[in-house]
Amino acid sequence: MGAQEEGEEVPHEINAIGISFGNSNSSIAYTSSEGKAEVIANEEGDRYIPSILSYIEGEEYHGTQAKSQLVRNSQNTVAYFRDYLGKDFDSIDPTPCHASAHPKKHESTVAFSIQDTESDSQNDVTVSEITTRHIRRLASSASDYLGKKVNAAVISVPTNFTEAQKEAMTKASQAAGVQLLQMISEPTAAVLAYDARSDAEIKDKIIVVADFGGTRSDIGVIASRGGMYSILSTSHDYETAGAQLDQLLIDHFAKEFIKKNKTDPRQKPKSLAKLKLEAEATKKALSLGGNASLSIESLADGVDFASTINRTRYEMLAAKIFGSLTRMIEDTVRKADLDILDVDEVILSGGTSHTPRISQNLQRLFSPKTRILSPSTLPTAIDPSSLAARGAAIQASLISEFDKEDIEQSTHPMVTVTPHLRNAIGVMVVSDDTKKGLFTALVEKETAVPCRRAGIFAAPREGGDVMVKVCEGARDIKVTKKEKAKTNGKAASDDSDLDSDDEEDEEEIREKIWKVGTVLAEAAIKGVKKGGKVEVTVHVGADLGVVVTAREVGAKGGVRGNLDK
Ligand code: ATP
Repeated sequence: MGAQEEGEEVPHEINAIGISFGNSNSSIAYTSSEGKAEVIANEEGDRYIPSILSYIEGEEYHGTQAKSQLVRNSQNTVAYFRDYLGKDFDSIDPTPCHASAHPKKHESTVAFSIQDTESDSQNDVTVSEITTRHIRRLASSASDYLGKKVNAAVISVPTNFTEAQKEAMTKASQAAGVQLLQMISEPTAAVLAYDARSDAEIKDKIIVVADFGGTRSDIGVIASRGGMYSILSTSHDYETAGAQLDQLLIDHFAKEFIKKNKTDPRQKPKSLAKLKLEAEATKKALSLGGNASLSIESLADGVDFASTINRTRYEMLAAKIFGSLTRMIEDTVRKADLDILDVDEVILSGGTSHTPRISQNLQRLFSPKTRILSPSTLPTAIDPSSLAARGAAIQASLISEFDKEDIEQSTHPMVTVTPHLRNAIGVMVVSDDTKKGLFTALVEKETAVPCRRAGIFAAPREGGDVMVKVCEGARDIKVTKKEKAKTNGKAASDDSDLDSDDEEDEEEIREKIWKVGTVLAEAAIKGVKKGGKVEVTVHVGADLGVVVTAREVGAKGGVRGNLDK
C-alpha cells in the first residue's frame, strides 16, 4: 500500500489532495498545475469509490470490489460507517448497516466484529481503524496516480459534524499517514468547485447547495459575499435519500417476482443483496435513459429474473420522495429568513442529484432567474458526485503552503464568525426636483464586515442637483393576484392536471421589492450633467461604522461622510 506508518515523521514536502468521504462513496481529487481540480480514478478506474472494505482470508478489498462482497460475504464487509466516527454507540442509527457487518459497542464507541485476518477469529475493529484503512487506500490510489507520495489532505465533512467527529477524523487520517490540513464543509466545497472554474464570475449571491447522497440529504444555504462564504442555514434528513429510491425499485421488482414465482426475494439476505445492487444500477440507468432493464441470475430459489422499467413509471413511484426533497429545500431557505426569490443559484451535489426529475422539480420551484446547476438543467454543470472532492482539492492547494498555525488561525472561530449585515445597504439617487429615486442594493444582506463595495448609478436623466441617499433596505415580497385569461369558461393554461376551479382562476405573481429603511448618509452633488452618473462607495467597518463617498463620474471632487453605528 505504500502509505506512511503511524508515528513516522511527516516529511517536509506536502503533497496534498482533496477527499470527499461519504457514507456511501468517496472521491479523491488533486489540483493540476493550471489550478484545475481533477478527480482521480483508482486502480479499478473508479472515480466514485464505495466507502466499503471487505475481508476474505485476511485479504482486504476496497471500493467496488468490496461492494460486490455484500452478496456473498456481507458479515465481513464494512459499509456506511462514516457517520459513526467519533460518536457514542448509543447515539448511532445502525439501520444502514443491516445488510453488512453490524456495528457493536466497543468501550463507548463503535466497532465491527469481522474476520479480517487469515485466522478464523473475529476481531473487533473500531470505526476509527476502519476509517484509517479506508483513507490509507484512498491516499495510496492517489499516490499511484500522481506518482508521488500523498501525505496530506483536505477532507469535506457535513455541516453538522461535531468537534468530537472532527477530532476522530483528524486522528484516523493521521494514523493513515495523511496529515489532515483542514476539514471543509461539504456545501462550501461544492461552491468552491464552481467558483474555482476559470470562467466563473465571482459576485455576491445566495446559493442553495442541495446534497442528495445515498444515506442522507443535506441542504445548505450560503451567502457568497466578496468571495467569502457564510452558511446561513442547514438541514439534514436521514430518511429521504438514494437508499429509499433503491428500496422503491426493490419493492417494485420484488412484487413482479412474487407474482410469477410465489416467493419473496426480499426474505433471503443474499437475494435481497443481489436485488439491491441491481436496483441501484437500474436507478442510475434511468437518470440517463427513458428505459432500463435489469437481469439477475438465480435471484431466489435458483430462478433467474429479468425485467424493464421506464422513467415515467419510476418517477411516479418516487414522486413522494422527490416532493419531500423539494420541500426540504423550501424549508431551509425559509429557515435562513429568505424567500425562494432571493436564491440566485442552486447547486445540486451528491450522487442522487443526477436524477433529472429532481432538478426539473427545482426549476419549477425557483424563479427563471435562478440558475439550477445540475447535469440535466445545464450542460456545463460539474458532475454532482465529484463536487465535494474537487472543492476539497482546491482548498488543499490553497492552504498546503501555509504554516500549521496559519491554517489553525484561518479556521479559528474568531476569524470565521465575523459579524454580518442584517439588512442590505443600498443607494438612491434622488432628483432635487422630483424627490424621486429608485433603491439599488450595493451591499447585500448577510455580507460579512468589514467590507467595501462601489457602484455606478445613473443620475436622473435631466441631471442638475441630485441627492445621493445611502439607506438600509429590507427585501420584501410583493404578491399580486391576476385573473387568468379564460377561453370558453376554462382557464387558458396548459397545465392539464389542474382543474379550472374558482381559486385557480387567479394567478399569483410574486416579485422581490425593497422596503427602504433608515437613511445612513446623504450626499448632495450639485450640477450633475445631463445623462451623468454618480459613483458611490460604501465601506462598512468591523464596528459597523459606515464611510460613504459619492462623486460624479468624470468630475473632480466628491463628498465623503462618516457614520457611526
Ligand atoms: P451519503 O453520505 O449520504 O451516504 P455519499 O456522499 O457517500 O452519500 P454519493 O455518491 O453522493 O454518496 O451518493 C450516493 C447515492 O447516489 C447512491 O444512492 C447512488 O445510488 C446515487 N447515485 C449515484 N449515481 C446516480 C445516478 N446517475 N442517478 C441516480 N442516483 C445516483
